[in-house]
Amino acid sequence: MQARNLTMTTGAATLMVAALLLGLLLDAVALIMLIAALLLLIWHYSNLYRVNRYLWHSRRFVPPEGRGNWGMVFDGIYKLHQRHLERRRELGELIRRFREGAEAMPDGVLVLGEHHSIIWCNGMAQRLLGLRWPDDRGQRLDNLMRGPEMKGYLQRRSSSEAMTLESPAMEGHLLELRLMPYGEGQRLMVIGDITKLRKLERVREDFVANVSHELRTPLTVLKGYLEMMEPDDDDPLQRKALQMMSEQCARMDSLVAQLSELSSIEAHATVDFSRRIDVPVLLRTIEQEMATLLHNRQLSLHFEVSARLQMLGDQRQMRSAFSNLVVNAIKYTPDGGHIDVLWRRTSRGALFIVSDDGEGIAAEHLARLTERFYRVDSARTRKTGGSGLGLSIVKHALANHQSRLQIDSQIAKGSRFSFVIPEILLVEEKDVDVTKAS
Ligand code: ADP
Repeated sequence: MQARNLTMTTGAATLMVAALLLGLLLDAVALIMLIAALLLLIWHYSNLYRVNRYLWHSRRFVPPEGRGNWGMVFDGIYKLHQRHLERRRELGELIRRFREGAEAMPDGVLVLGEHHSIIWCNGMAQRLLGLRWPDDRGQRLDNLMRGPEMKGYLQRRSSSEAMTLESPAMEGHLLELRLMPYGEGQRLMVIGDITKLRKLERVREDFVANVSHELRTPLTVLKGYLEMMEPDDDDPLQRKALQMMSEQCARMDSLVAQLSELSSIEAHATVDFSRRIDVPVLLRTIEQEMATLLHNRQLSLHFEVSARLQMLGDQRQMRSAFSNLVVNAIKYTPDGGHIDVLWRRTSRGALFIVSDDGEGIAAEHLARLTERFYRVDSARTRKTGGSGLGLSIVKHALANHQSRLQIDSQIAKGSRFSFVIPEILLVEEKDVDVTKAS
């Protein structure tokens, strides 16, 4: 490169020296030098013209031939061009691979830009949402899919929650939409068809509901006959057998009742929020009912209830939630323990807490406690008659009321089960006599 540069510079210098010598010979230095300089200028301009034509008008891929410095300029342009093409090819390949990957996915994928405008979507997204491609490119998704739900979901900053939606294009299909940040100022929407999953869930729920319903009649018959049977005092084996059978029957009865309750709560996920629940009265009833459980137990149970604080929702479901937590505290707190129940307003909503100073639960169990049939210690719970369904019932009842169960516990120190009912579901009864509340 340097050598070529040198050649060119020497070339121009040689021309000028030759012009000078010729000028001296012909005694017309200025004229000859001027002509030489003009020739040099014309040469440069002609090359500049060729570059210009090549860059703006030529369709040729290879630049024109050039000499000296101009040859290097043409070579340089050619190399830059090559590099640029290489990059474009790589980028194109990358985009092609991404699109092929996204097309192969069983889910719908949408890339959304500013103002929720559609930058790109795969075939599945087009089918599930009824989009026309490429006509809908650049259109706002909230304009194409009207409805407050979609608008609200798109405006949400946090992307952790999914939204369920009926497919506008495929009748009877249920979709799950998930939004996540993607690139600068863009978001990726993944759309799954959850119709089959929902159907399976429905089949499972119906199966459990039917089984628990069908078990009720034989159980009632068994219980009836067991109550009628008089144990023979001289036959200890028979007495023991009858006692065991009665106990197991009662256990099965409670299990079936809890299963039915869980099925019913799952089946009534859409709660009628026009109904008012007088929580203070409900908690007073639960407190009175606990007297039987506390019989022969040395436990202190204290209720602190905000007398005017009521809520909207399903009374049966909330009753289950409140009472399951109190019953558990009584079941799992040994004699000499204390249980405190609290219902009061806070800045976040109405707070319900059941705290005890019982045995507590090891940290590794906490996350799984609300799973169906999960029990920390099956031997211990068998004694207490537990089925492992109580907290699952609480979880579902609370989810139907826009709330979540929070569990804090420490071994040998006790447990605290709490939840917050959001402000939107609260009603403050103004005319209630405060002294009535215990
Ligand atoms: P169960 O019918 O067995 O009580 P739950 O779903 O109500 O089922 O509770 C699940 C498990 O959580 C119980 O088996 C018990 O080990 C644990 N648990 C629940 N409440 C408490 C509590 N207040 N203190 C200690 N352990 C508890």
